[in-house]
Amino acid sequence: MRKVNMIYEGKAKKVYATDDPDLLIVSYKDDATAFNGLKRGTIIGKGVINNRMSNILMAKLEEAGVPTHFVSELNERDTLVKKVKIVPLEVIVRNISAGSFAKNYGVQEGIIFEEPTIEFSYKNDELGDPLINDYQAIALGIATRAEIETITKYAFTVNEILRALWASRGVTLVDFKLEFGKTSDGTIILADEISPDTCRLWDSETGKKLDKDRFRRDLGGVEEAYHEIMRRLFD
Ligand code: ADP
Ligand code: UDP
Repeated sequence: MRKVNMIYEGKAKKVYATDDPDLLIVSYKDDATAFNGLKRGTIIGKGVINNRMSNILMAKLEEAGVPTHFVSELNERDTLVKKVKIVPLEVIVRNISAGSFAKNYGVQEGIIFEEPTIEFSYKNDELGDPLINDYQAIALGIATRAEIETITKYAFTVNEILRALWASRGVTLVDFKLEFGKTSDGTIILADEISPDTCRLWDSETGKKLDKDRFRRDLGGVEEAYHEIMRRLFD
C-alpha cells in the first residue's frame, strides 16, 4: 500500500490517503508538543518508538477482543490503519491521581483510586479540549448514548489489559488517553495511538516517570525514558 497524498498533518503524526478509500497510512514524527501546542520540541526517535509500541499494544488489545484501527506496520514510522471518522472525544482513564486531575481537585499525585475513573474532553484545539460529560456530548451531537456506552466499555477493558501487561513489566499504568472512531459501516473502533505520549507510565519500584511528563515538565532524560519504556515492553 502506498501513500497517495497527505490529508492531515497533526502535532505528532502525518496522515496519508492510500489507494484504498477505507485505509490510511499514519506516519509518526519526532515532534513533541504540550499545553495545547504552547510548548514545542523534538524527542529524537520518538516516532519510531510510538509507532512500534502503539502497534504492539493494539495487536494485543485486538487479540483480547477490542476492535482497533491497526492493520499492519509498514516500516519503522509508518502504519496502515482503517480509516475512521474520529469521535471528537479524548477518553481519559485514570488509576492514580496525576496531571490535570491532581490540579483540578487540589490533591497530590500518586493517590491510588479504589476504582478507575473515566472522563471525556471535547477534542477541539481552539477551545483547549474542554472537559465534557456524556449528556453534553449527546446534546452537541458528538456521539449517541449507545456509542458512549460502547466507548466506555472498551476504555475500561483497555485499562484492565494494559494495566496487567505493564505491571508484568514493572511499570504502573497511571492514566491514559484514547480516541475512538467510526468505520464506514458505523462500527466503533479504537483509533489514534497508545504510547508514552498518551499514557502516564511510572516505574513500579522507583516511581520514575517513563513518559511524556519528562518533556512537559523539563525533567531531563526524555529520550532515555522513551527507550527504557520500549525496552520494558520487550522484557
Ligand atoms: P493532533 O491532531 O491532536 O495534532 P496527531 O498529530 O496525532 O494529533 O494527528 C493524527 C490525527 O489523526 C488525529 O487528529 C487523530 O484523531 C487522527 N486519527 C487517528 N487515527 C485515525 C484513523 N484511523 N482514521 C482517521 N483519523 C485518525
Ligand atoms: N493526554 C493526551 N493528550 C491530551 C491530553 C492528555 O494524550 O491532549 C493524556 C496524558 O498523557 C495523560 C492522560 O491523558 O496520560 C491524562 O492527562 P491529564 O488530563 O492529566 O492532562 P495533562 O495534565 O497531561 O495535560
